[in-house]
Amino acid sequence: MTTAKASVLEQFNQPLQLREFALPAQLEPGAALVRTEMAGICGTDVHLWKGQLPVALPLILGHETVARIERLGAGLERDWTGQPLKIGDRVAWNSAVSCGQCYYCAEKRQPTRCPQRRAYGIGYRCDQPPHFFGGYAEFHYLWPRTHIFRLPDDLPTESLVGAGCALITAIHGVERTGIAWRDNVVVQGCGPVGLAALAVAKSAGAGKVIVIGGPKHRLELAKKFGADHVIDLDEVRDAKSRLEAVRQLTGGYGADVVLECVGIPAAFVEGAEFCRDGGKYLVLGHYCDAGTVAFNPHVITRKQLQVFGSWSSEPRHLRAAIEFLRRTQKEFPFHELVSRRYPIEQANEALQAMANWQVAKSVIVPA
Ligand SMILES: [Zn+2]
Ligand SMILES: [Zn+2]
Repeated sequence: MTTAKASVLEQFNQPLQLREFALPAQLEPGAALVRTEMAGICGTDVHLWKGQLPVALPLILGHETVARIERLGAGLERDWTGQPLKIGDRVAWNSAVSCGQCYYCAEKRQPTRCPQRRAYGIGYRCDQPPHFFGGYAEFHYLWPRTHIFRLPDDLPTESLVGAGCALITAIHGVERTGIAWRDNVVVQGCGPVGLAALAVAKSAGAGKVIVIGGPKHRLELAKKFGADHVIDLDEVRDAKSRLEAVRQLTGGYGADVVLECVGIPAAFVEGAEFCRDGGKYLVLGHYCDAGTVAFNPHVITRKQLQVFGSWSSEPRHLRAAIEFLRRTQKEFPFHELVSRRYPIEQANEALQAMANWQVAKSVIVPA
């Protein structure tokens, strides 16, 4: 095998194109070539496809991938946790690598804000060899210094891909809020990030968790993931009634912690009101720039709110996610989010299913 297929984003808002690229004849030291087993379609891929983030084309999308090692470059003998790596091992990896040496990496310990940071499936053009820098392809090239994790045999591929980048994003975000045992929590949104935030909050010791969102099939999933109460946006249509409902469920005070996982600016205004006085508010859903909103900062001062932001995730969050998923498959059935599988030839259908909210998660499984 000297070439392999990839589905390529060549023009925004246009169908992805099936292309063949040459596989690398040789690997540089420390690199790996892996064969895609399953590639998740993330909501961010839809935004990328529509041109809502500044990326260079052509691009192979896909940053939630599980694959098997096909070839190992010289010197790459262990994964990030020190386990030995060999051909055929099932692995996952962090989609982005930070430099480790700059002001943000080394001094301020905010490696997700490293200026050198680039992510597979987002930040690499595919017209230069070795081409394979995204999940929507039969193979994936992993640069030296990629944080690779050998997956435990008792962790199904569906669990990790179903949880996707949403779980590691949520672990990072919730960690910043420092949810305390028995805190009342509101989760705004019940897409993948909302469900993941719910799971992380629950496992972090949260008391009552209220999930606000829709459509109905997603709220059903939220209940399955342990939501104590759900508020359906299709039923409770005005913000005032939703605030009343939240207050009623929290002894009249509002939530200790509110986790915004929506990505619509108006949700921010509403979420600040859901917080009790002295509460905490995490703004997690605005990975894309969705625009501005009128907001009265007096709310933050008067309520003495702590407001947090969180961007993407670090390697330690993927390490934690793997262990978390392995232990909690029954409690938090992320594998059930993988609702439709597509061959690589139907990458457009897979992307469309996510864009139309038809599925919790569609995935690509190369034949
Ligand atoms: Zn993502
Ligand atoms: Zn750096």
